[in-house]
Amino acid sequence: MKNKYHENLATPYWLLDEKKLKKNLSLISDIREKSSAKILLALKGYALWKSFPLLQDALNGCCASGLHEAKLAHETFGQEVHTYSPAFKEEELEEIASISHHLVFNSPAQFKRFAAKAKAFNPLLSIGLRVNPEYSEAPKEIYNPCGLNSRLGTTLLNFDESILDACDGLHFHALCEQSSDALENVLKHFEEKFGKYIPQMKWINFGGGHHITREGYDVEKLIRLIKEFKAKYNVEVYLEPGEAIGWETGTLVTSVLDIVHNGMDIAILDSSAEAHMPDTIIMPYRAEVEGAGKVGEKAHTYRLAGNTCLAGDIMGDYSFDTPLTIGDKVVFEDQMHYTMVKATTFNGIKLPSIVVKKEDGSVEVLREFGYEDFRDRLS
Ligand SMILES: *Cc1c(COP(=O)(O)O)cnc(C)c1O
Repeated sequence: MKNKYHENLATPYWLLDEKKLKKNLSLISDIREKSSAKILLALKGYALWKSFPLLQDALNGCCASGLHEAKLAHETFGQEVHTYSPAFKEEELEEIASISHHLVFNSPAQFKRFAAKAKAFNPLLSIGLRVNPEYSEAPKEIYNPCGLNSRLGTTLLNFDESILDACDGLHFHALCEQSSDALENVLKHFEEKFGKYIPQMKWINFGGGHHITREGYDVEKLIRLIKEFKAKYNVEVYLEPGEAIGWETGTLVTSVLDIVHNGMDIAILDSSAEAHMPDTIIMPYRAEVEGAGKVGEKAHTYRLAGNTCLAGDIMGDYSFDTPLTIGDKVVFEDQMHYTMVKATTFNGIKLPSIVVKKEDGSVEVLREFGYEDFRDRLS
């Protein structure tokens, strides 16, 4: 592992691989062409805006979850800006409305309070409502927008037909890292509940969570489902994946700072699960480590842990062919989505730099972080 990574780059850093990103984007382009769906990037999952010039041709724009993401989409991506928020604030409405193309409300109450005002700020705005199909195969409750007592989207029981005249589209988001089979099942429930309203809509947004770029995802089925839906209802169909765009496009490169022993060998890295890869704790999931195996699979097993004072700041237990030594690089795979958008400076830990590996193999450091970034988030 020692020679593969640029010894002169200070760890930790995220390393985006342009070639891999382009591979994902060519699949997305293909789906867009064959299905005639419009596909947006969900900034919640991936917002490395300096890479957006690579994304703009493959996508129709971005979906944002509020003012800041909408501004980022408007300033750095262009094209369509779709803004949905669990609840909008009145004082932000003008700015959001004036830079958005679609505005999606979460409840009939917000719709009735703000739809006309938003239209007055931007007459071209297309207005929609997020509905809750009350069916999801999401793997974990924390990622299930259709779970018990969910606040996300309007259930059929809470639907208010008085908004229909001003409503151009319906939005649902019920998937998380899921297949086109799961989409098919969600669509059945969506149509069963809200089908009567679809013919009067201009567009239906199928949300995110489509694991399009994962190996084995049935792309042909996704295309078929979209085409059939469009033919049946004569509406525009939108998808807004986040994770699928950044899926397997880069790594988090860290270094071993020390190795301690307490019932096992523990390597302390110059990164943090809590601060830099929080989903490994929240979801939880186990990130793959380059050249490493499961516990006991290879000769030397270590717990990989973060350099903060949180006891649970642990990436997981891994085995290696050769013993780890101080200064060795430990490289976590697939760290482009839901990492830098979520990272914090908890415990004063330095944020990883953002580095891109270009198609020609050269490497460019896009951003480095320091003490000021820690200080300036506080006061
Ligand atoms: C999170 C989210 C997305 C993106 O989901 P991915 O799992 O990253 O594809 C899209 N739309 C909405 C409304 C979301 O909340």
